[in-house]
Amino acid sequence: MTETTTPDAALETLGRVFGYDSFRGDQAEIIRHVVAGGDALVLMPTGGGKSLCYQVPSLVREGTGVVISPLIALMQDQVDALAAVGVRAEFLNSTQGPDERRRVEAAFVAGAVDLLYLAPERLAIESTAQLLDRGTIALFAIDEAHCVAQWGHDFRPDYLRLSMLHERWPAVPRIALTATATEQTHAEIALRLQLDDARHFVASFDRPNIQYRIEAKNQPQRQLLELLRTEHVGDAGIVYCLSRASVEKTAEFLNSSGIPALPYHAGLPAEVRAANQSRFLREDGIVMVATIAFGMGIDKPDVRFVAHLDLPKSVEGYYQETGRAGRDGLPSTAWLAYGLQDVVQQRRMIEQSEGDLAHRRRMSAHLDAMLALCETVECRRVQLLAYFGQSSQPCGNCDTCLNPPQAWDGTVPAQKLLSTIVRLKRERNQTFGAGQVVDILRGKETPRTLQHGHEQLATWGIGEDLSDQQWRGVVRQLLAQGLLATQGEYGILALTDASAAVLSGERAVSLRTEPERVARRAPKRQ
Ligand code: ADP
Ligand code: ZN
Repeated sequence: MTETTTPDAALETLGRVFGYDSFRGDQAEIIRHVVAGGDALVLMPTGGGKSLCYQVPSLVREGTGVVISPLIALMQDQVDALAAVGVRAEFLNSTQGPDERRRVEAAFVAGAVDLLYLAPERLAIESTAQLLDRGTIALFAIDEAHCVAQWGHDFRPDYLRLSMLHERWPAVPRIALTATATEQTHAEIALRLQLDDARHFVASFDRPNIQYRIEAKNQPQRQLLELLRTEHVGDAGIVYCLSRASVEKTAEFLNSSGIPALPYHAGLPAEVRAANQSRFLREDGIVMVATIAFGMGIDKPDVRFVAHLDLPKSVEGYYQETGRAGRDGLPSTAWLAYGLQDVVQQRRMIEQSEGDLAHRRRMSAHLDAMLALCETVECRRVQLLAYFGQSSQPCGNCDTCLNPPQAWDGTVPAQKLLSTIVRLKRERNQTFGAGQVVDILRGKETPRTLQHGHEQLATWGIGEDLSDQQWRGVVRQLLAQGLLATQGEYGILALTDASAAVLSGERAVSLRTEPERVARRAPKRQ
């Protein structure tokens, strides 16, 4: 737009174009740095205001701001929103016909585009690079920059190509932005994008208005319904499920219970997805039941809750998904129900995944961190922030702060369980999943225990002091602590290297009681 870069050009643009009177947090400093031609790596939580960090410099600097984004489905919305405030924004992606593409290209070359959104795969095409050479580039913004990191949870191979931006246009400043990055992902972004001289801006990842709660999964749909009926009547929210089938089932269940819910997953026709997304954004009080295909880039300020009916695969994913709640700063709930079956299923998925050994190890490490968060007796927020390398004090507004779980000595039950597995293997050459092992411990006469003559095992009935549910909690926690493993499709229980020390009594096992559900100390609403 203008070549003058007086210190106030950014502030003037903020007011004139976007109608805001001041910058938030690090925005002013980030914008000043990029306007002056510096590279930046910005880590800021969802809702923190990342977009202005590249939009304002694109307008202040000469030429077009080129934004690399994986969110093809949202480009039209983003461009429309900018057009509404008078910014000349365009996009290039695979959804366009040749005429439309030529129109955008001509406008860019003529210098009539302030912001150009590009899908990363466009950069693989040499003609795109040649096109960029013919215009003036104000900056490159790399949105959702964590997609370049293999360590992260959302790796996109196309993003690796983005190192070419620096090689081909070394003088153009680059700003990479993400709402999710552990220290490891953070380092990998800097490395892969060759952001050697970039300034790093790391905002606090805390979202104080979100109440984090994780509870044991017994009857997930019922538990969800109770949450919605007691604390979130009429609220908009997102319910995440692992599979398409459970998305459909859960949406039907909510509708039949009188809660307006819409499904969203990659198996639905594009027009159904678009229609459901737009109803969720525009109408009040809709619950979106979705796979993780839904949500990235969705800007709905009043999402009051994010519920997970299945265990997320990583803390990064969990944090990003829950971060979609309460962008308006008002009290919101992040609720997760998780059970033994989740652990079994995810270990199996990792075992069967097609990736190489390094990939499976990474997935395992992600899962372990997620399990540690679920089983912690400490403040959830402290643990979450620590995962992102930030230290904090107990928050007083998560389930473990509000209703501290007790630790109890689970050494003896762990020994009973492990020795049952050992005996089955040694005396019978048999292996079983958790259901059968718990039945043996509780001395439950079922067709399956009787058929195998399991009542003759020395450990038959030695675990009657704990209920089925408590035993499942023990199994789940031993799995989470790596003192027990599952194998194969049926979740066969097996010992790990660490199990021996428990059996021999050298290692004590500390377990967490399942606290009663957090009392109705729901966040207060204005
Ligand atoms: P992010 O991309 O980090 O999730 P956005 O860029 O979408 O966040 O910004 C979140 C919301 O905050 C948007 O509605 C945006 O208009 C608003 N916002 C950002 N910066 C400011 C500011 N300086 N003053 C007022 N509102 C702002
Ligand atoms: Zn807490």
